[in-house]
Amino acid sequence: MNSLKPYVLFLFLIFIPFLANNFVVFVNSVTSSSSSDNEYTTFFDAITSINSKASSMSDKNQSSSSASRASSSSCEVWEVNCSKAVLGLALKRENVEWIKVLRRKIHENPELAFEEYETSKLIRAELDRMEIEYRYPLAKTGIRAWIGTGGPPFVAIRADMDALPIQEAVEWEHKSKVPGKMHACGHDAHVAMLVGAAKILKNREHLLKGTVVLLFQPAEEAGNGAKGMIRDGALENVEAIFAVHVSHEHPTAIIGSRPGPLLAGCGFFRAVISGKKGLAANPHHSVDPILAASSAIISLQGIVSRESNPLDSQVVSVTSFNGGSDLDMIPDTVVIGGTFRAFSNSSFYNLLQRIEEVIVEQASVFRCSAMVDFFEKEYTIYPPTVNDDRMYEHVKKVATDLLGPPNFRVVPPMMGAEDFSFYSEAVPAAFYYIGVRNETFGSTHTVHSPYFMIDEDVLPFGASVHATIAERYLIEHV
Ligand SMILES: [Zn+2]
Ligand SMILES: [Zn+2]
Repeated sequence: MNSLKPYVLFLFLIFIPFLANNFVVFVNSVTSSSSSDNEYTTFFDAITSINSKASSMSDKNQSSSSASRASSSSCEVWEVNCSKAVLGLALKRENVEWIKVLRRKIHENPELAFEEYETSKLIRAELDRMEIEYRYPLAKTGIRAWIGTGGPPFVAIRADMDALPIQEAVEWEHKSKVPGKMHACGHDAHVAMLVGAAKILKNREHLLKGTVVLLFQPAEEAGNGAKGMIRDGALENVEAIFAVHVSHEHPTAIIGSRPGPLLAGCGFFRAVISGKKGLAANPHHSVDPILAASSAIISLQGIVSRESNPLDSQVVSVTSFNGGSDLDMIPDTVVIGGTFRAFSNSSFYNLLQRIEEVIVEQASVFRCSAMVDFFEKEYTIYPPTVNDDRMYEHVKKVATDLLGPPNFRVVPPMMGAEDFSFYSEAVPAAFYYIGVRNETFGSTHTVHSPYFMIDEDVLPFGASVHATIAERYLIEHV
């Protein structure tokens, strides 16, 4: 084995600029086709070579001198051997198989928001097997598990469990067995990676300098499971929280994040515009809500284009228009609806106010009345997801040290929304992406597509990043 090391290091130094693209192929060859643990060791050596090089170049990373001062087994100061040990556990052949089987079981049996009873049961069975303590239920089907000393500091990692009302169009062995339901947002992978992290952390429990809280939450998709989890005590004593989302935009196991606003705040609206029904041939005897709604929709476009700062990204989209069914009659009412997004709370609530004003006022221009509903009672307003600078730096440091500098990317903000924002409003938090894109395999479709799929080789890497974020947080207490 030793004779291979200089060769591997040489290859990596030559190919570092191309590593990001080739990482996926390399990972695949390691996790899918290797026939012995020795080949995994080759992979660790390669990762270790990159990490050592990065460490010696940067004082910010843990230096190789401090690493050498540290005991190789205690990990009181994080060093290359600690990364190697975590990856070693995650990439053990039986653990790779186990985590894939777990994800496939969840994928085959998708459950919608607040109905994740079987998924939750499966997770609890795994936690029981690992002798990990937990509290259940939170927010109907949610779980709060913990590993470590039971004392402070407490750091949390969260996974969402719910699927979507989408018919899976991917034909494969473990396709969804439930018609019209599918894990099209990768939450099956999120659960598997967090249970995988639980296994790593349980194995390293004697090294933990505090408590890791594992949160399995229901209803991320328009159901605000996070709010229910927080209400039921998910964040009790927790001083920092982290979560991951799979991304088809990055090659397998590439980590991406950014400081500050990462995902937009998201709200929905529905307006009922009322007029007076009448024969289309005599429009002067009716009050036309079709014209009023059309005018309101045109005017809504002016909110972002004429009233908002172009540097403060915002969206107002009208996505539905329903009214009338008789080609010869002006209808009584028209219902329009849509969504709005912004990256700051002030812009977000300004949009909400202006959408209502524009619809009501434009309706009155055409002698109609309007009622606008923002579904606040159903809690479908998500605030923006904002990464705490220190927590973002922690994710970046962990990913860079664990997987090598080319495998971390700073990503632009996105207009999507996440109910992780409720946690990030409550405690310092960081949300990050993990790539699942593999062109050869075909995992190139966006989330919420019936063709969405993931490269499962991501799972052990996601588990390793989760576990290391938590373990290092407790040591370094960022
Ligand atoms: Zn989703
Ligand atoms: Zn999602």
